[in-house]
Amino acid sequence: MSDDTRAFPAQQQEPPGWTGQMTPRPDHGEESYRGSGRMVGLRALVTGGDSGIGRATAIAFAREGADVAIGYLPEEQQDAEETARWVREAGRQAELLPGDLTDEAAARALPGDAAKALGGLDVLVNNAGFQMARRESIEDVTTEEFDRVLKTNLYALLWVTQAALEHLSDGSSIINNSSIQAFQPSTSLLDYASTKAAINNLTVNLAAELGPRGIRVNAVAPGPIWTPLQPATQPEEKLASFGQDTPLGRAGQPAEVAPAFVFLASPADASYVSGTVLGVTGGKPVF
Ligand code: NAD
Ligand code: MG
Repeated sequence: MSDDTRAFPAQQQEPPGWTGQMTPRPDHGEESYRGSGRMVGLRALVTGGDSGIGRATAIAFAREGADVAIGYLPEEQQDAEETARWVREAGRQAELLPGDLTDEAAARALPGDAAKALGGLDVLVNNAGFQMARRESIEDVTTEEFDRVLKTNLYALLWVTQAALEHLSDGSSIINNSSIQAFQPSTSLLDYASTKAAINNLTVNLAAELGPRGIRVNAVAPGPIWTPLQPATQPEEKLASFGQDTPLGRAGQPAEVAPAFVFLASPADASYVSGTVLGVTGGKPVF
């Protein structure tokens, strides 16, 4: 493959970004993911499940036999409905739960709403996240942006996890979405990268606390993945070569990340896996 075929065409969106405006369309495993009964009868909540990695995870979970509730921002309704369509096509229940997770009350209500709709909760995927990379230096970081990044990536994770613990029990698991940015931070993502490092730390700590309750806690650290977050938050000139600095020389697709979430969610496959961060980075080191 030449570099030209790996380059993304010029495009920009405003946050949160929409799948329908992306060229090319990301691959969420719609035509490729084959389930093998790894999550039969489980009930999962995927925050930010409308698009990108969250959508691919929701589709994979459903094809593995799980019912799925997804959280998302109200303006992402169209993307959320598309995810729900694929979950239902897999023969599983899909619940759409819009809300802004930077609002504490909304974040705390989400797990209970999911458990009520699905009849319980076994898997929590803290996947919702926000970054802003259209900036040059720390001096460009506004308080408003800093707030949005920390509230979405860290505060919401705390609020949602605390509320979810009322419903999780022995055999349940929590999977957080970290990032290569926790290990190799980019200067333009100063605040975002620091939240992802904190998420790794929190994952290990929470695994220690919840292990005795039989609840496993892990994280996935994706590298550069082609999702709406990128055209919505990266400067256009960076987008063209997005992912080409990885050893595999290209960006990954959401479909290539979802199997890591399935593995960590699977009570049989990952029965002894907790407190780990699984890299899906195209070859960049996660240590
Ligand atoms: P995405 O835009 O498809 O998903 C992010 C989702 O977060 C949005 O769809 C939105 O529903 C949700 N979200 C954001 N702010 C929210 C808020 N205030 N309230 C409720 N929901 C909110 O992009 P993605 O890349 O699939 O992102 C998913 C996760 O993956 C994020 O945590 C991101 O940090 C992480 N990640 C992405 C990449 C990448 O290259 N795309 C790399 C490493 C980690
Ligand atoms: Mg979205």
